[in-house]
Amino acid sequence: MKARLLALGFCLMTRFPSLAQTDPATLRNDPYLKQLYLDASYLGTKQKVSAEFAHVKPGSWGEFVKGVDEDIITEKKLLALTFDACGGPHGSGHDAELIGYLEKMKIPATLFVTGKWIDANYDIFLKLSGNSLFEIENHGLNHHPCSVDGESEYGIKGTPDVPDAFDEIEANERKILAITGRRPLFFRSATAYTDEACAKIARQLGVTMISFDVLSGDAVPNTPKAIIEDNIIKHVRPGALIIMHFNHPEWNSYEALQNVIPALLKSGYTFVRLNDYPLKGR
Ligand SMILES: [Zn+2]
Repeated sequence: MKARLLALGFCLMTRFPSLAQTDPATLRNDPYLKQLYLDASYLGTKQKVSAEFAHVKPGSWGEFVKGVDEDIITEKKLLALTFDACGGPHGSGHDAELIGYLEKMKIPATLFVTGKWIDANYDIFLKLSGNSLFEIENHGLNHHPCSVDGESEYGIKGTPDVPDAFDEIEANERKILAITGRRPLFFRSATAYTDEACAKIARQLGVTMISFDVLSGDAVPNTPKAIIEDNIIKHVRPGALIIMHFNHPEWNSYEALQNVIPALLKSGYTFVRLNDYPLKGR
């Protein structure tokens, strides 16, 4: 058994270079995708999935469609704080105050990151992924809402077809694995909108599609902290999954959490990462 584990460890080490060997330049999304397209294992899986889902119907489009999980299964007063880092020209920041506050208060959280955001914040990403307080999950390679027929949401164009939906999920799975040594278990589509077919594709890749059940509203520009606080405090219940962002220091996410976290702790809630408990969905 020990020998098998050692062999597996060796295999993982050789297949996925260690942090010291990972060159951030080759991980930037464009060269990284070019490199992936030369990888027989990636291409083989892409062809297989593309063929299997070639005639799939998209199904419903939304934040809460069949196959998407959004709650922790528990009667206990547990909450999961989840934070997205979206990337792109206006979303590549890092809310150092927010992260520092979670660290100071020892509040565990799940961070959904895009490949784009990793490119723009490589050293910060290394630090966050090395901190056991945080669970790193997948928010897509290029922050395109996951669609098999080109749906859009909030003006953000979704992936046009199955092969592109595959890249959006799987390329970022492999990117995060290559850097951290851990393959994400959860995927949240950009904007949290997805179709049912993407949830099936994710499942096929061993990844669970995640939505949320408490919308903090921090992503609506200029939302005052009092509104974000109310959105959270009024809607939490045992097992709730709260969605926020940590890529916009100019938003009021941190300012609201400074009041929300002590208030929730006082009313008996504790915080968990998504991987800590089983989840339920539709
Ligand atoms: Zn996002």
